[in-house]
Formats: sequence, structure tokens, C-alpha cells
Amino acid sequence: MGKVGFGLAVTCAVASCAIAAILVSRRVKSRRKWNRMVGVLGEFEEGCSTSIGRLRQVVDAMDVEMHAGLASEGGSKLKMLLTFIDNLPNGNEKGNYYVLDLGGTNFRILRLQLGDERSMILRHDVEQPIPPAFMTSTSEDLFDFIASSLEQFVEREANSSDLPLVKRRELGFTFSFPVKQTSVSSGILIKWTKGFSIEDMVGKDVAECLQQAMIKRGLDMRVAALVNDTVGTLALGHYHDEDTVAAVIIGTGTNACYVERTDAIIKCQGLLTNSGGMVVNMEWGNFWSSHLPRTSYDVDLDTDSPNPNDQARGFEKMISGMYLGDIVRRVILSMSHELDILGMLLLVIGTLYLENLCGPVVNYRIWKLDDPYELHSSASLFHRKWRTPLMAVMHEDDSPDLREVARILKDTLKIPDVPLKVRKLIVKVCDVVTRRAARLAAAGIVGILKKIGRDGSSGIMSGRTKNGGESSGKMRRTVVAIEGGLYVRYSMFREYLNEAVAEILGEEIAPHVILRVSEDGSGIGAALLAASHSSPSVDSVSLP
Ligand code: ADP
Ligand code: MG
Repeated sequence: MGKVGFGLAVTCAVASCAIAAILVSRRVKSRRKWNRMVGVLGEFEEGCSTSIGRLRQVVDAMDVEMHAGLASEGGSKLKMLLTFIDNLPNGNEKGNYYVLDLGGTNFRILRLQLGDERSMILRHDVEQPIPPAFMTSTSEDLFDFIASSLEQFVEREANSSDLPLVKRRELGFTFSFPVKQTSVSSGILIKWTKGFSIEDMVGKDVAECLQQAMIKRGLDMRVAALVNDTVGTLALGHYHDEDTVAAVIIGTGTNACYVERTDAIIKCQGLLTNSGGMVVNMEWGNFWSSHLPRTSYDVDLDTDSPNPNDQARGFEKMISGMYLGDIVRRVILSMSHELDILGMLLLVIGTLYLENLCGPVVNYRIWKLDDPYELHSSASLFHRKWRTPLMAVMHEDDSPDLREVARILKDTLKIPDVPLKVRKLIVKVCDVVTRRAARLAAAGIVGILKKIGRDGSSGIMSGRTKNGGESSGKMRRTVVAIEGGLYVRYSMFREYLNEAVAEILGEEIAPHVILRVSEDGSGIGAALLAASHSSPSVDSVSLP
């Protein structure tokens, strides 16, 4: 071999070694990045821990806060609002009733015909999204819009010959925001939640606003019952099963109500009802306890939310459908930050540039794992695409290669070619977020059962009877009615919640507690309450 040949061979060997070294170093870097990403997830999972011990602490905290909220006005973050509903439907309700259901996402109008022996015919049902402009405009605009929809509904009905004529139209109004009731059919808005913000309405009588808008349009309708969606759900639950003592909503937001003894409502001494009890609307979305497993992502979400505050609606922000998708988005974004600094710089520069050019935009950044792909992200809260139903589809993808996850990432979130091992991490993030939410909601439910002596903690024989005394003999059957898109349509969430309730209660007590879906309770329940409160003679609540 000549000198030239030797030199060439040495150069080749050096080049090969250099390439090999670069490849090895890339692999090492890539592995390190991967490990860091997995580390972010591990840390998040640890922060979301809902061990049985922690859940029991949440149960106890819920019980304590319930006592405090009943003891004095402002005594707890739980408002424990009186509803003036002291008797729940039992199957004797009859007649034609209308319902207006104004919740978080949509609003619905229904007409129901209630007959003998719990026969119920849903005559009409329209559902439409609330135009976002009306969620932040004026109360007059919102109620004009609602009254005009009601008017169209009644007109359509008048043209339909098969419907019986109704002399006086009684309306059940489901208004699922915190309201301080002044009677069963009136109440003052305390504050908006779930993205609504119509400032001039806070402090106004909600039923009166609707009544005025209906009068303006010449609509002959009367608000017979103003109810929260939880109360409607409890009413429907009780109509079908008289052992129903509490109701929980887990949809866009979350809330619960239950039947309380009037003598336990200390902040309203001298309150008298025929039944000796009253439904209390807990507004549990606002529950807070230091035992809640809160992570930095929850803190950031709160800061960016329309209602930032130290723990305002802290429970809701960990549990309900409005927030879960966004928590997932935040964790994935944070994992992607571990990938490369250059990507971060591109993100920052790109965002600033595009935002200056066209206002708030969807940001793109390239992040590399085994293959390059893009992560959709956004500075704004509740990115339109990171919604909880999408998260549920990814979470529940049981195909071995996570095909659905890949499809959603590619088609909806515009992130193509995500490697399988990363798809698995994304599913894991969804699982951690959902599991924590469901288990915390479960602890909340057991907290209510503890408050009313139905959790078996004071012995299996404990539990309050209908007339307030202690029961004797075996443990009483207890039914909790549940409604809301997150619980009803997200089966993993439902399974985690049901499992956690059984785990906290233990095998001796759990069989006596039934969680029962009360679908459409927020609407139908309001019609039932309008029916049971439409005659003045039923007004059996007397205030001190
Ligand atoms: P609202 O609470 O607005 O009255 P729903 O009870 O129907 O309405 O709940 C709607 C919420 O439930 C949605 O905002 C979404 O977060 C959640 N949701 C609906 N469908 C699903 C689904 N398939 N998987 C997971 N979450 C869902
Ligand atoms: Mg609803």
C-alpha cells in the first residue's frame, strides 16, 4: 500500500469513527431527551397521586366544609345554597310543562306531558348552542334571545295539531350557575362560571329577567320553578327511585346537591318545611382543600383561566370537562419543551412574529423524538382542539398500534407521524388526568354520604331515615343520581369513579350505595319540579 493509499485509509477510518461518534452521541442525546420527557410525565403522575389515604382526607375535608358552609354564610368555600325544594317528585305529577335548560354549552327547550304512574311523554325538544356573543353581552340581549327561541318553540307547537292545548304555560327554568334562591321560583345570580360573563346580571333575579323578556314578547308563560341542574337531576332520580338522596353533575362544570335536615342548616335557624328537609345546592365546584393533589399545571391553568383566583373553583378545574383536555395539552407541551432548545427558540420567535402579524394564533413548533413532527399548541386557554371528548377518544383507543390516537393527532391536531412510543405517552397523560379527576369526584360523593351518615363510618347500622331519625336494622339503600357528558359518555372516567367510590366505602358498605345515571335530569327534573310546585298550596316552606 502506497503512502496515498495509507493516507486515504486512515482518513476513511477517522471519518467513519467521527460519523459513528456523531451517531452514538445523537442516540445518547435522543435517549436523554426521551428520559427527560418520561421524567416530566413521572413527576406529573406523582403530583396527581390519589392514594386511598389521600382520598379519605378529601372525604373528610368535604364533610368538614359542608358543616362549615351550613353553619354560617361565607363559612366555607362551599356555598351550601338553600333551594326551597322540600319535597321531591314521587310519581304523582301530572300535566303539561315546559322547560328551559340553560347550562354550560347548549340551551334546550322541552315540553313534557306527565301522566299517571310515572308515564312521561317528551313532546318536543330543541337544543342549540348558545351563541358566544350572548355569553358576554348584556342580560337583556341574552334573555331576548332566549325568549325569542321560546316564542318560536311555542309557535311551532301551536301549528302542530296533535298536541293538547295548554291553558296556562308553566315553566321549569334550569339555570346552572350559582344562584341565591329567594323562593322556589326566584333567585339572584351570585356569579357566572363556565365562560359566561355578563356583568350587569350579577345580583339580579334570574327568573325575573326571563319573565320580563317573555312579557315583552307577549308570551303567556310563568316560571314555576327555578332550579339548578343538580336539583333537576335529583328530582328525576327521586321520581324513579325514592332512595335517591343526592345528585352530582359532571359535564362542562361540576356540582352536587343533596337532601339535608332543616335543623342542620344552622345558618338559617327556624327554617321550617313540611318534610323536615330541604335540598341544598352545594356548588361544590368551588370546594378547596390542601389535600387536593394540585400540580404546577393546575396553577398555570388557573392563572390563565377567565376566573383566576386563589383556588376559585379549584375542585371544578381538576374535575370537569371544560378543563381536562387543557390539562393534557399543558403536560404534553411541557414534555415537548424537554426536546430541544432550538425548537423552543423557534417557538418563541415564530409565535412573536405571527402574533404581531395576525393577532393570537395557533403556534407550531417542531419537536423531534425518533421522527420529526409538529405539536399544535396555543397560548390561549381551552384550545379549541384540545377538548375533553377528543382526549377521551385517544384514551379509549384499544387498538394495538393506537390508530385512533395517530388519526386524531394527524387529522385534528395536525401533528403527523407521531411514533408509537410517543402515542403511548400521550395516552398515559390522558389516563393520569382522567383518573385523578374521577377519583376526586368519587371522594366528593363519599364526603356527602359521610355528612348524611350513609357512608357506614359510624357502623353499618347508621344512616338517617326519611324522617330524620336513626335507622335500625340493616344498612339503608342509598342512591346517588349522576348526570353530565363527562360521566355519561366517557366510560374510562365512569369506571374510575365507580371503582373509587367502592374502594373508599369498602366491600361491606359499597353494595348499599348505587350510582345511577339520571339522563336528562337537568331538563326533565325541572318539569317535575314545576309540576310539584305549580300549585300555591304546595308551597310548604316557611322562613324564620
Ligand atoms: P353541560 O355540562 O354543558 O350542561 P353536558 O352535561 O352534555 O353539558 O356536558 C358536556 C361536557 O361533557 C363537554 O363539555 C365535554 O367536556 C364532556 N363530554 C361530552 N361528551 C364527552 C365524551 N364523549 N367524552 C368525554 N367528555 C365528554
Ligand atoms: Mg347540563
